Amino acid sequence: MADLSNCMECGGMVSSEANQCPHCKTSRDGIRGVKCHVCGGLLKFSESIKRYYDDDEKSEFFHHACYQQVSLKIVEKNQTINCPVCSEPNHFSYGRRERNWRTHFKERINCAKCGHPYEYEQTEENDPYTNCMYCGFLLEKNLEVVVKNPYGGYDSYAHKLCYTNERQAEQLRLKEYLENSRKKSEEETRIKKKKEADEKFESKLRGAFWPGLFMGGLSLAMGIWAILLFGILFGLYLIIGNE
Ligand SMILES: [Zn+2]
Ligand SMILES: [Zn+2]
Ligand SMILES: [Zn+2]
Ligand SMILES: [Zn+2]
Repeated sequence: MADLSNCMECGGMVSSEANQCPHCKTSRDGIRGVKCHVCGGLLKFSESIKRYYDDDEKSEFFHHACYQQVSLKIVEKNQTINCPVCSEPNHFSYGRRERNWRTHFKERINCAKCGHPYEYEQTEENDPYTNCMYCGFLLEKNLEVVVKNPYGGYDSYAHKLCYTNERQAEQLRLKEYLENSRKKSEEETRIKKKKEADEKFESKLRGAFWPGLFMGGLSLAMGIWAILLFGILFGLYLIIGNE
């Protein structure tokens, strides 16, 4: 069943199956509004900053304010690395970085003081910058939030602005889900192990039954024979002793 709702652009009543708003002629996406790629809030398509990629599915929309906050973090920063010989702090420039910048690189540095050439390797771990796991823009790690990796391994980072309550709740749910499935599989292994041990014990018991019965029977028979023999000997003794 088609529902009626208000067009995000003009507020007029529109069927949920309409391909275009009959009042303001906005497209289907416009009727529903678009989601800000940073804060996750709904906004008017006409008021959004748009980023289109080759793959239409990946189009991004932003509030102007949100876009400003994340995109202005484009960094032209210097990093200081101390010379391994004379400890002189040498600078090198990161260059301009925005999104999906390669963070693993090697930098050749010639010490400004003693001329010693050395190499500095930038890795994900020692890089003070990384890309936000939500909006993809560059961020300064110690200014924003760490998002613990629930699978283990490297943690991710997010802008405070991007790490909304909804996304925090989502992370929490994922963490709980993973913890529960881990507990479940642990419990299953425990039960399986116990079952295996029980089965082993039972088969041991079964294996011991017939030999046990045989030995029991044998000793019983030997006992009877011993008593009989004793009786006969005693009888003989009596007979011989009485003569
Ligand atoms: Zn409309
Ligand atoms: Zn926003
Ligand atoms: Zn030096
Ligand atoms: Zn972000």
